[in-house]
Amino acid sequence: MCRHLAWLGRPRTLAELVLEPPSSLLVQSYAPRRQRHGTMNADGWGVGFWTPGRAAPARWRSARPLWAEPSFASVAPSLSSGCVVAAVRSATAGMPLEESAAAPFTDGRVLLSHNGRVDRNVLPAVRDAESTVDSALLAALVFDRGLDALGDVVREVGQADPGARLNLLAADGARLLATSWGDTLSMLVTPDGTALASEPWDDDPAWTDVPDRSLVVVTADGIAVTPLDRQDAA
Ligand code: GLN
Repeated sequence: MCRHLAWLGRPRTLAELVLEPPSSLLVQSYAPRRQRHGTMNADGWGVGFWTPGRAAPARWRSARPLWAEPSFASVAPSLSSGCVVAAVRSATAGMPLEESAAAPFTDGRVLLSHNGRVDRNVLPAVRDAESTVDSALLAALVFDRGLDALGDVVREVGQADPGARLNLLAADGARLLATSWGDTLSMLVTPDGTALASEPWDDDPAWTDVPDRSLVVVTADGIAVTPLDRQDAA
C-alpha cells in the first residue's frame, strides 16, 4: 500500500509537508509506521499542487524512491502551496513500474491518489487513463464521474470487488475529498489548515483516526465525515 497526504490551508512549502516532519512521507517511503500491506514505498512518488494565478495543478512525479531525489529536496523548500496532494508508491504485484503509474493522477483539474488495490476487470472502460495501473484506471473513472461522485464510485467498485482496498485522496484546488476503505487514514485540523494522511507525520496528539469506510470532505468552511456503508450517505 502506498502512503499519501493532502493539505488545504495556509500555503506551506513542499519541504514542510513532505520532507521535514519526523515521520514525513519521505520517512514513510522506507519506514512507514502503520502500513498493513508491504513494508516500503520505493516504487516512485509524486507531488501535485496549486499555485496562484494558474488554474491547473503543477505536478512532479518520478519512478525512483523519494529518498533518491536530491533535486526535489533542493527545490521543495522554495515551492509553497495551499492545496497539495502527495504520495509514495509501493507497486502492487503485476502493475507497471513507471513514472506515469505514480500518484497523483490528474485530468488537469483534479489531483487523485489511490492507496490500495482493485481488480481491473471490475472497472468500467475509461478513456484517457495515464497508465494501465489499477489506480490510474480508478482515477480516470473518478475524473469521468466527477468529484461529487467519489463516495458513490468507491461504494460501487467496493461492491464489485469485495477484496478491493480503496483509500482515495483527491483535491480540486479548493477542497479535499478522501475515502477510507480498507486502509488507515488520519486527519489533523489546525488553525492554519487541515491535513489528511495515510498515517500521522508526527506525534501531535491532535491527529485523529478516520473510521474505515468513511468519506471526508474538507473545504475552507469546515470538514464533514460521513459513513460510506450507509445507503443514505453522501
Ligand atoms: N495498486 C496501486 C499501485 O500498484 C497502489 C498500490 C499501493 O497502494 N501500494 O501502484
